[in-house]
Amino acid sequence: MPSEHCPNCGSGTVVVRTVNDRLRVANPRGQSFEIALRLPMCRCKACKFSWQGQEAFAAKEVAYQHALLQGALLDLHT
Ligand SMILES: [Zn+2]
Repeated sequence: MPSEHCPNCGSGTVVVRTVNDRLRVANPRGQSFEIALRLPMCRCKACKFSWQGQEAFAAKEVAYQHALLQGALLDLHT
């Protein structure tokens, strides 16, 4: 169970649903690229409000770091 509480109504009846999402990001050299990721979305059962919780930010960070790593590896081979 997520420890999140609904930021809209304060209810603790929150479910996390994972959705496919795409993120447009830029690497440190300013080249932008798109990454596909599985994003956990929080949803409040009480008021139907949905938002991105800590899990979503963590998932984005992991996906971004992974993409940078892949980009670095590709650079090595070209
Ligand atoms: Zn709510």
